[in-house]
Formats: sequence, C-alpha cells, structure tokens
Amino acid sequence: MNLILLGPPGAGKGTQSAALVERYGIPQISTGDMLRVAVKEGSPMGVKAKSFMDAGALVPDDVVVGIVRERLEKEDCRNGFILDGFPRTVTQADALHGTLKEMGKDLDAVISLEVEVDALVERLTGRRICKVCGRGYHLAFDPPSVEGRCDQCGGELYQRDDDREETIRKRLAVYSEQTSPLIDYYRQRGLLISIDGMRDIAVVQSDIVAALRTS
Ligand code: ADP
Ligand code: ADP
Ligand code: ZN
Repeated sequence: MNLILLGPPGAGKGTQSAALVERYGIPQISTGDMLRVAVKEGSPMGVKAKSFMDAGALVPDDVVVGIVRERLEKEDCRNGFILDGFPRTVTQADALHGTLKEMGKDLDAVISLEVEVDALVERLTGRRICKVCGRGYHLAFDPPSVEGRCDQCGGELYQRDDDREETIRKRLAVYSEQTSPLIDYYRQRGLLISIDGMRDIAVVQSDIVAALRTS
C-alpha cells in the first residue's frame, strides 16, 4: 500500500503513521525526521536545511525530492510506504509522480487529516519527542507513563526548537499557502480520503483503517 499522510503541522501525521507502520508492516518516510537527523549529523544537506527549518520555512524542493527518491528505492519500500510530511508543494507532488512512474508504482490513497487551527497550536506547543527513537508524545493528550521519559525506549524527551508559538504560526501560514493546494490536487486525481483529525488518536486510527478498507 502506497500512502501519503497530508495535513498541517500538528494534525497527527507522525502519530498516525507510526500506528499504520505496525498495522501494515510498511515503512514510514518522514522528511522532517530525515532532515532533523541530517541537521544533527551536520551533513552538508543538514547545514543547508537548518536555517529554513529554524525559520519555519520549507526546505528547497530539490533537497527533499532527492532524499525521498533515494529512500523510495530502498528494498523495504517494495510492499509499500507511508509518506509523512511529503509532498508539501505542488512541485514536490509532481516530482513524486514522476519518480513513482519511473519505478512502475502508483499511489493508492492520500489521507488528509483535518484539524482546526486552535487545536493545532495546542498540540504543537505540548508536543514532546524522544531523543533516541523519535516517538512523539503530548504533555496532556498522550503523556508518557514516566515524566520526561520515552515509554518505548526510556530515552529523554525534548521539545523541538520549531514547536514554539512564533515559529508555529509561521509554519501554519506556510502550510496554508504552499501545502493546502495539494488537497485539491489529490482530490482531482481521485485519491483523497478526508479524515476528521479532531477526534482521539485511536478513533482517528480506526477511521483511517476503515476508509482504506473501502477505498
Ligand atoms: P510537522 O510534523 O510539524 O508537520 P515536520 O517534522 O514534517 O513538521 O517538518 C519540520 C520542518 O522540516 C518543516 O517546517 C520544514 O522546514 C522541513 N520539511 C519537512 N518536510 C519537508 C518537505 N516535504 N518540504 C520542505 N521542507 C520540509
Ligand atoms: P504531525 O506529524 O502532523 O505534525 P504529530 O503526530 O506529531 O503531528 O502530533 C502533534 C501532537 O499532537 C503530538 O504531541 C501528538 O501526541 C498529539 N496528537 C496527535 N494526534 C492527536 C489527537 N488525535 N488528539 C490529540 N492530540 C494528538
Ligand atoms: Zn524512545
């Protein structure tokens, strides 16, 4: 199953992707996670990406298109993949289409998570991430069993630099200008599945699974 999870920052793309990975046994491809690793390692790509990410802006299309193409060629994507946070522009969506075509693949569905702006801000300000395994938590909505520690691996939780109110506002504006046109883009191609992302994490998950079953 070849899927895209689409939605504004904080919509639940990472949370839902992680659960879908377990359910379907296909990998999650998160451009945000891959870029954060590159920044941490200080690779040339990471150095280039950092200033855009800190500012809440999008990293240039050619950079992300390149890393996704390389990732999709890996053996573990043979039975499917979940793209989380990519594409984010029409240029990226067109490039993805070309890449998949060359590989003889097609998208099965684009899941659009719909969440109101106030809820997005609340989710992003309360988001905490495991330093070691990358699992996401929320201080109020999905807290770890031991404060500050990851349930999965015991790693320390941290707050992303860009999850502060000012950068959050900027990222939401970037989303509505540059990424939200993809909703129509995929609707016109008959691939869009709209999901009410305002409900509890487990309810959203079962709605996605039910929608995929009938799509
Ligand atoms: P969120 O989970 O809040 O949606 P991500 O972790 O997906 O955020 O992305 C964090 C940052 O990484 C973005 O603000 C952007 O700077 C960069 N980024 C991630 N994916 C892309 C992409 N597909 N195109 C351009 N920039 C990206
Ligand atoms: P995205 O990847 O789209 O930026 P995340 O999956 O990281 O979003 O979720 C953002 C924050 O909101 C996290 O702290 C997560 O625990 C929390 N969250 C995710 N889904 C829900 C939900 N349905 N209800 C409440 N909080 C949620
Ligand atoms: Zn962890």
